Amino acid sequence: MDDADRAKGIADQADQDALEDHLSRSNSNQPSRIHCIDCEEEISPRRRETKGVTRCINCQRDFEQRQLLSNWGPP
Ligand SMILES: [Zn+2]
Repeated sequence: MDDADRAKGIADQADQDALEDHLSRSNSNQPSRIHCIDCEEEISPRRRETKGVTRCINCQRDFEQRQLLSNWGPP
């Protein structure tokens, strides 16, 4: 592994952390679910530390994507 690969790995991890932080900020007075409301997959313990988590990160991302699309309307 050279420096470029290593830097990329770090950047990927940072992106993931930033994404999880971003996705965590909602419904913050409800307790988190253990299983995703959409796909029933177990939500990662790290993600459940934040209150109000109802979806696994994949479903949350899809959900936000759909919200974005519905806000923008059809192309
Ligand atoms: Zn899910």
